[in-house]
Amino acid sequence: MRYYFFELLACPICKNPNLLLHPIIEEKRSVTVDVERVRCRRWCSLYWRNAEETPLDLCKDCVHRDIVEGVIVCPNCGRWYPIVSSIPVMINDKYRNPKEDADFMRRNISRIPENVKREMRIPRIIE
Ligand SMILES: [Zn+2]
Ligand SMILES: [Zn+2]
Repeated sequence: MRYYFFELLACPICKNPNLLLHPIIEEKRSVTVDVERVRCRRWCSLYWRNAEETPLDLCKDCVHRDIVEGVIVCPNCGRWYPIVSSIPVMINDKYRNPKEDADFMRRNISRIPENVKREMRIPRIIE
């Protein structure tokens, strides 16, 4: 998932658009895109700054980064969503696969900081 895609997301349950992103594995993957057209618009979660005031040179670096594995957290309802194989898996509770969630957590729990884990309330993390 690219950083510029992240700001387009909202929580599928409570519709909150102010989500938190915690990248775990990132890869540089060059893409032939018009940087000015695709770059972050409002907020760049890579540089953690207002996108409008971000120099285009920084955006060039941003658009080439692909988040292969990571966590998206909704601080409003406490749900967390995994990014697996570069895809943010943002689905309704009833379609979640508890085994896949558990596998994801087993792989990544040690790489998620405590302050992020505290926000991840649904589903519950089994450590
Ligand atoms: Zn950006
Ligand atoms: Zn939510």
